[in-house]
Amino acid sequence: MRWLERDNQLLQVRLGIASSLFLALRCKNSHTASHCLRVTMLTGAWGAALGMPERQRDTLEVASLLHDIGKIGVPDRILLKPGPLTPDESSTMEQYRLMGREILRPSCNVPEVLEIVHYCAAWYDGSRPGWKLRGEEIPLGARMLAIADAYDAMTTEQVYRPAMSPEMALAELYRCAGKQFDPELVKQFAQFQLHDPKKYHQQVLRRWLKQLDPELTKAQWCYQNLDSDAARRNILSLFCRRHLETTRTGIVFVDPFLKILYWNPGAERLTGISKSSAEERLFQPDLLLIRDEHGRELTEGDFPVLQALQKGEQRYRRVLIRTRSARDFIVDMHVAPVMDGSGILQGAVVTMHDVSPELSLVARCQSLYEMATRDPLTQVANRAEFDRVHSMFVKAHLDRKLPCSLILADLDHFKSINDTYGHQAGDEVLKAFAKVLKSSCRTGDVVARYGGEEFAILCPDCDQTAAARRAEAIRTAWAEMDQPALGGQRSTASFGVTEVQPGDTPSSMLARADRALYMAKESGRNVVVQLGTGLASASDTDQEIHPQRLEQGVLLEQVLVTPVPVSIAAQKLQGFVADHRVKVTQREENHVQLLVEGGGGFLRRWANRKNALVVDLWFFVPQQQQKTSSSTRIRVRIALRRPRERRRSEALERSHQLLASLKAYLMASELPETEEKDSSKGDQQVQWVPAEIHQLLSDR
Ligand code: GH3
Ligand code: MG
Ligand code: MG
Repeated sequence: MRWLERDNQLLQVRLGIASSLFLALRCKNSHTASHCLRVTMLTGAWGAALGMPERQRDTLEVASLLHDIGKIGVPDRILLKPGPLTPDESSTMEQYRLMGREILRPSCNVPEVLEIVHYCAAWYDGSRPGWKLRGEEIPLGARMLAIADAYDAMTTEQVYRPAMSPEMALAELYRCAGKQFDPELVKQFAQFQLHDPKKYHQQVLRRWLKQLDPELTKAQWCYQNLDSDAARRNILSLFCRRHLETTRTGIVFVDPFLKILYWNPGAERLTGISKSSAEERLFQPDLLLIRDEHGRELTEGDFPVLQALQKGEQRYRRVLIRTRSARDFIVDMHVAPVMDGSGILQGAVVTMHDVSPELSLVARCQSLYEMATRDPLTQVANRAEFDRVHSMFVKAHLDRKLPCSLILADLDHFKSINDTYGHQAGDEVLKAFAKVLKSSCRTGDVVARYGGEEFAILCPDCDQTAAARRAEAIRTAWAEMDQPALGGQRSTASFGVTEVQPGDTPSSMLARADRALYMAKESGRNVVVQLGTGLASASDTDQEIHPQRLEQGVLLEQVLVTPVPVSIAAQKLQGFVADHRVKVTQREENHVQLLVEGGGGFLRRWANRKNALVVDLWFFVPQQQQKTSSSTRIRVRIALRRPRERRRSEALERSHQLLASLKAYLMASELPETEEKDSSKGDQQVQWVPAEIHQLLSDR
């Protein structure tokens, strides 16, 4: 036991952290481990006798201790076999030198150690197959180790032969000198053996126990980056194997003739067909009853594996497969042909990915989306969806200056239908009405249930006249339809139609359509009423404002002319006020002042900001037209309520929208500059019309 402790101590100082490796070898085969320790004493002492530099002795000693580490990888039945080895066993045995180097490589920081471990098996004359170096090309340490290794092996008992005497062993070394061993070194070794080698053994032990620097020992070992191609390939193939074995994707290798070379566990799991029964069979559609995703049989030309092999190109296809337990799965099949370095087809890799969970997720998302956007009773869009799409439409159509109309429809006297026939019958009528609306739609139109018995149809790229025509067609079709739920009685509906117009927001457009619908109800129901001017009224002539006026907070000033008499113009202004929900703050003589602030209409976007606008309008009629007057002039001024407001450019953009909307409502255009001069010449030319303006606006 004492010697074991001493050995451990020696190992610790000589190998540091790498003593674990040595201990592993001792666990595998203590005989080999003892041999390594004796050989190390021999090489260490011999090196000392030769006066080798310390650094070189360190390397030789470490290499000697670990030169047989590869034997860890040799099966015991070969390592411990008493009789001669078969050729196969010999070749396994040969491998251990390479294994030794591979074991040490990741942690050994001293390349010379690796070289010695590798080349100690090389023959001096280069005649041993597998080792390239010969003679003095072989590192000195390796040539010395080869001699010490052989000497110790010969002088100790082996499972396959008894121990030789030192004389016989030296004789054998001489016999092989020049061929297997360096002849000069054999001579030196023999001399060293004759002259008190024990003295040098003591020297080695003393050095190890007293002089070795633990830091230097430590520095000999650290994790190495495995950068040689072979090592990397080795590691990569480990990764590939691990991946193939653990992935849930089915992976199959086929040769160019469809024969299955490899069937991974993922393929076993997916298909229920085991590796042993799949490999060597042909990968044809009937193996998994492969069909297209709708269940139709695949023709030969449709089978992606065959296609990829024939064309030498990747193929992808979603297919249905039937497992051994007769379950059908939808899988994405991807086939990649495999070529060798010379471009010759070697087969293909087929991956099968089960997409059933994803498909059911897509279906679930779809149904959630529908639940969130559809009205459950009528299956048309709900109000939230309408609001979302409506604002998108308004913005897109105004930006592109394209018409877009809105039809609001409301069933007439629906309350009395419920009261007379019951709520259930009312529901049936709502469903029937929604069906009529849907069937009258073009692709791109959106039908929505806006409220109880109120529906909206958004008609993109459709002007007000066309929309009104469509509303009229729906109105008549509905009015002429017998309602089974009402015992064959009929129902009617009223319609309000409008087109998006300059300066509109979704809410101003909706408010206008609602006003039109209200007018339809007012005029007796079962009619279509349209309101608004549409995009036809758009006019982009903007006026420059004098810098001084800008300082006073004025953003825009313009004189407009509308072909309608002042009474109509005032009515239109009332529509503007209602739809945009602005406040009338002053009414005196021909002047109306409006305050545009947070709340609705234009203001929704700015609702949380204080940047309010003041719109002043002065109405007048040119004097010469007074009697037969049909046109009205309106001087408009839009200014900031607080002139020092900082978000000026935003306010300016808004004032342009406001003016555009005013023009649309008033059916007005900019007064040509020449006429404007005339009109501004003096108040004498116009007659004030306070009464009508005052009255109309106070009626609200
Ligand atoms: P008008 O011609 O002025 O539109 O009269 P109306 O009776 O249709 O209008 P009102 O707004 O007074 O009544 C609407 C009725 O619609 C009242 C409400 O009970 C009914 N209603 C709302 N939603 C539903 C529904 O989902 N099913 C049924 N059956 N009735 C509904
Ligand atoms: Mg109604
Ligand atoms: Mg209603």
